[in-house]
Amino acid sequence: MNLEFHCDDEIEKIIGHDIRNDTRIFLVQLKKSKRTVWIPLTHRRILSENLILDYYTRHNIKAADLPPISRQKRADDLFKFLSQVSNDELSLFARRFDNLNALPPSNMKALKHNLFHCVPLPVTGDIQMNKTEMANLRHKVLIEVCHERRNKQLTELQAKEWSLNLMSDNDEPIFLENNVDFAQFPEFKYVNHFVAGEGVHIQNTLPDDLGCGFDTPSNGTHTCDKKCICMVIFDVKPAYNKNGQMILNHGERIHECNKKCRCDDSCRFRVIQKKSQIPFLIFRCANGTGWGVKTLKPLPKGTYIGRYFGKVILWEEAESLPTSGGRRDYLFDIDYLIGDNGHCKYTVDAFDYGNFTRFINHSCSPNLVVHHAWINMLDDNLHDLAFFTSKSVDYGEELTFDYHKAFTNCKCSSYECIQRRS
Ligand SMILES: [Zn+2]
Ligand SMILES: [Zn+2]
Ligand SMILES: [Zn+2]
Ligand SMILES: [Zn+2]
Repeated sequence: MNLEFHCDDEIEKIIGHDIRNDTRIFLVQLKKSKRTVWIPLTHRRILSENLILDYYTRHNIKAADLPPISRQKRADDLFKFLSQVSNDELSLFARRFDNLNALPPSNMKALKHNLFHCVPLPVTGDIQMNKTEMANLRHKVLIEVCHERRNKQLTELQAKEWSLNLMSDNDEPIFLENNVDFAQFPEFKYVNHFVAGEGVHIQNTLPDDLGCGFDTPSNGTHTCDKKCICMVIFDVKPAYNKNGQMILNHGERIHECNKKCRCDDSCRFRVIQKKSQIPFLIFRCANGTGWGVKTLKPLPKGTYIGRYFGKVILWEEAESLPTSGGRRDYLFDIDYLIGDNGHCKYTVDAFDYGNFTRFINHSCSPNLVVHHAWINMLDDNLHDLAFFTSKSVDYGEELTFDYHKAFTNCKCSSYECIQRRS
């Protein structure tokens, strides 16, 4: 028997009644479809008191004739009825408290006592409370629902954090936090590299003699300095100082030593290819911008943060994605070169595949810049997008970059943002 009722058809009348699992249920006939369906008494949003009274009158049913339902059961049903709430509705309710760690304490015992003393009447299911009393009771019920969902949420976030760190190749952990609402952490596959989309070939084989160190004797150790032949081969300036911090101007190419070079990991021209040493926090933003990323370590200017990874798709495919529903929020053009057609060849789509950088938010006054970088790929149209700090960043500060898109309602609230709007 189907006790669920998800239909926009109206109820014409009640034509029967029964008790199942200690719940009073009614067989109703629908107006348009003439279908019949069983509905529990607790479904008071659609089962009005008038309908029930009409049914009892027509069939000359008296309260005393009906089999009793325990007061406890009716109290439980009332709790169930009052606790029907969606994630969004509950998030809205929780907003009246400072954050999800500042919920009023749970007091299930007092609430049960309350419910027990104002349970619906056994016959009509009518609740003997005025609006204020009802609102008070619902407030208490929702606090309990918040606690219940909060516990579930913390367990889920912990599990997500665990699986995310299994996949991430950062040396330091990535933490997850949501103290703001009951939104779920999005599903995506964590990757530490590009994934080739349809019609895309990621070429990363290099000619054997491309690289530095071939002039040094094989018994000597080769370390790269400012005169490294790689900088000559690719006609670029060294990108980093001896502390590994970015010293190029924005727009200048980064070329790192590659897999053919004879230098080791300690080479000063290997920075973005190494594992990150920064602990990050992916957190739920209170200002409605979704999730964001914070550093859990103070960072000097020029520090490498991470590379934007995801599925590499053709620009045309990116253009064909829906403009609504946030589907395009995870696109990042690989745009060192702009073709005669006015656009780049490839775009990174981090919706299904990505790493922690997919959560970095926009700001009109950002603390990160994106540099175009090459390591083992030689295609000018296919390069890494590497994030570096553009100023020193404090512990716990949110990391942001400028999306360079037109925002109708930017929420970054920086001084530059206000200037841009006016
Ligand atoms: Zn070298
Ligand atoms: Zn090299
Ligand atoms: Zn090197
Ligand atoms: Zn802004």
